[in-house]
Parts: sequence; structure tokens; C-alpha cells
Amino acid sequence: MQDNEKIWQSVLAELELLISKANFTTWFKNTFVDEVNNQEVIVGVPNAFTKVWLEKKYHDQIASVLEKILSQNNLQVIYRVKIKEKEASISKNVQKNTEQKQGPVNNLSHSNNPKPIQKFGLNSSYTFNSFVVGPGNELAQAAAHAAAQKPGEIYNPLFIYGGVGLGKTHLIQAVGNYILAKDPSKKLLYINSEKFTNDFIYAIKSGNTDKFKEAYRNIDVLLIDDIQFIAGKEQTQEEFFHTFNALHQNNKQIIISSDRPPKAIPAVESRLISRFEWGMIADISFPDFETRVAILETKCQEKNYPLDKDIIDYVAENIQENIRELEGALNRIIAFHQLNNTRPSLESVKAIMGGISTNPKKAGLTSKKLLHVVSTFFDISLSDLLGSSRKRELVVPRQISMYLMREELKASYPNIGQDIGGRDHTTAMHACIKINTLLESDEKMKNDIAVLKQKIYE
Ligand code: ADP
Ligand code: MG
Repeated sequence: MQDNEKIWQSVLAELELLISKANFTTWFKNTFVDEVNNQEVIVGVPNAFTKVWLEKKYHDQIASVLEKILSQNNLQVIYRVKIKEKEASISKNVQKNTEQKQGPVNNLSHSNNPKPIQKFGLNSSYTFNSFVVGPGNELAQAAAHAAAQKPGEIYNPLFIYGGVGLGKTHLIQAVGNYILAKDPSKKLLYINSEKFTNDFIYAIKSGNTDKFKEAYRNIDVLLIDDIQFIAGKEQTQEEFFHTFNALHQNNKQIIISSDRPPKAIPAVESRLISRFEWGMIADISFPDFETRVAILETKCQEKNYPLDKDIIDYVAENIQENIRELEGALNRIIAFHQLNNTRPSLESVKAIMGGISTNPKKAGLTSKKLLHVVSTFFDISLSDLLGSSRKRELVVPRQISMYLMREELKASYPNIGQDIGGRDHTTAMHACIKINTLLESDEKMKNDIAVLKQKIYE
């Protein structure tokens, strides 16, 4: 036993260098070498999930470290669910209870992943660490991260916009959690614009507007979520305008989220819109397949519930436009199988997800095809369309291409810029805003876009 313990300590010491800290503590807590005989090493693990996970993810690393330490080739490594002798009497009960109540959650992973506590309105699990970065959100993530490192100094305000369930709240709360972790004395406020409105109305009714102003103007960081809700609320906008100015003048960081870009929010005073545009504007667009897979893998890990690759791929393939739904599907899969005490199979997962389907109409479209259709439609060559000439008869089709890539392919601005002759993401962003604006009044543009939208799917 003594020897086995020494062997395992050396193995762990090596593995710790190869694996991220979070994974290491999650998956190697309460593991041990149970037996070594001939070519066989039996590794004791605390539960069936750890067994599956080690077999799937870490077997090669464990085996090669063991071979090195025992100076043997072709070792058989076997994982067996077993509680370490010494701790058996106490741990057994603990283990049983946890497994019954909430599945296999070991102590360490629990302390890694505490129940979300609400501090300054923040959910502590919304961190940069748990935010998966992909082409659709990398710009917003980078801007948020920079703002978190130097609040008030780089991008102020930072305006993040994007569709429902794409990570806006997660990201702006990550800034809050980051700033507070670094300096707990910072006065930080996270608030939804709806709550801001309600609080303000209440302050007026109760004659406490001075207190309200005081409270908002004395903070270091303001994170205001879903600003689109102040549309049409004139008094609240007026108040927010003054709050904004007071904070901005004192270099206090302001981060705003919205479901659309500043100019597209209806019924908001133009002086407020122009302030939203002072700093940095970053969008979050739909996650691509690889990002969706990475998000599912991260969530599985957070929940200590490994899933086979084909299942993850299937879920990622079938839910494309909303990360909250992606997570919801995962939760349903886990709940169903825990309740029935079975392991997920591709068949059972397909059955659970039966109701959700893909969008077949848009499946076949690529940026190449889109560009081909646009160049044919305007009777210009592809190289002119992608080239650098600023002639109007080329610039407009180019902008239309970028707009369509955005609308129909849900491409990120950096990707659009890349596909349209290696241009900057700001060019793509500008093009989309331009076409969107023209679409409001220009009948020819409306018509061209409608025709093009049909043609690209022919
Ligand atoms: P929004 O505010 O844009 O509607 P949320 O921030 O509430 O979206 O995100 C919805 C859910 O998806 C949250 O549980 C969040 O943690 C998760 N999520 C979104 N984007 C990511 C990401 N890039 N990595 C990990 N989880 C994400
Ligand atoms: Mg949100």
C-alpha cells in the first residue's frame, strides 16, 4: 500500500503539469493506485463518471506516465470504482448521498464550482474562464477583457450587442467578477435597464431622486444590461444621460449591452445614442460549430457529466442560434438519464431532442456561392468585387455582399472582412450599418436585397 501510494503521488505530480488545474482537481481527487501486478495497474476512482472520464480523456496520459515511473512498457491500466480503504467508512456514506441527490459531484469540484452567489447583482459563475471564445464573440470578449484589466482607461463606454442567448450577460458580468476579484473595494453595479427604470420611477414616487442620483453617480463601474428597454422612456433616458455623463467624466467604466446596435434602438434620444458610440462597439454573433462543441464540452465538465463525442456533435449540429437553448438541451439530456439511471446514447438523445430541428433552407449556403450570386447580379467580376477599387459601382455590391453574409450566413465581422478580400472587421461593420440604413428609405436597395435573397438560395 505504501508503495502504491508513492507511485500514485509521482504520477499525480507529473499529470498536474500536463492538465489544467481545474481538470486536475476535478478528475483526480480521491483517485489512488489500488493494485499493481505484473503488467496491470488498477486505479481506484470514486465514482462511475470519473471512471468514464479518465478512460475517455486521460487514459493515454495516465498510462504513459505510469509506464515511465514503473519503467515498463505495455502496461494495462484499469479503472475501478472503489473508495480508498482508510476513508472508506466515512466517505462511503457521503458518496452515496451525493450520488443519490445530485449525481456524482465530488467535494473538490464542488468547491471549484460553488453555487452562484449573488454579489453586487453578479452571478459568480459568469467568468472569463467559463466563457468559450470563438469567431462570433472574440471581438466582444477581447474588448471586455481589456476593459476589465484597465477599467475606464481603454474602451469607455464599451457597448456589446447581439441576439438572445449569445452570452452578453455572461460577458459583462465576467468583467464585474474580474474587477472585483482583483480589487474587492471597487464599487460596482450590475443592473438591467428595466430595473434601472423601475428604481428610478420608484425614486420619483417616493421623493428620493437625490438619493437615487447619489447612488448611481458614486460608483466605479456600471454594467447596464439590455439597454434597449429604455426605448420610449423619456424621463429614464434623461436620468441615464446624466448618470452616464457623471461617470464618464470621472473615467468610470461603463459597459452597456443591447440586443441591437445603438443606432437601431428605436425611440432613444440621439444625444444618448451618440454617447453609446463614443467608445467601443462590439457585436456577438452566432457561434460556429466548433464553438458550440467547445461550449457543450465545457458545460459537461462543469456538471461532471461526460458525454460521447457523437452526442455532443449531434446536439451542436441541431441547436445553432442560441447558447441558452444549447445549455437547456444538455440539462434535459442529463436530467432524463439521471432520472432513469441510464447512460445517454445517440438514440436516446435523438429522442429527447426530437422537437428541435435545423433550418434546412439555409443549410447549403456558403460565402463563395453568395459572392458569386452578387457578382453575377451586378454584372461585375469576382476579382473586382473583392478588389480594392473604390468606384461606386463596385463599392455598393461589396457592401451588399457583406450585409448578406451577415444576415444570411450569420457570419462574424472578422470573418466577413476576411472573406471579402481580407478587409478589416470595421469595414464589414460599417457596410452592414450602411445597408441597414439605406434599407429604411431606399426602394431600389430594398428590391435588390429581396431579389438577391431569393437568388442565393436557388
Ligand atoms: P444573453 O445575455 O446574450 O441573452 P447569456 O449571457 O444569458 O445570453 O447566455 C446564455 C447562456 O449561455 C448562459 O448560461 C451563458 O453562460 C451561456 N453562454 C453564452 N455564451 C457562452 C460562451 N461563449 N461560453 C460559455 N457559455 C456561454
Ligand atoms: Mg442577457
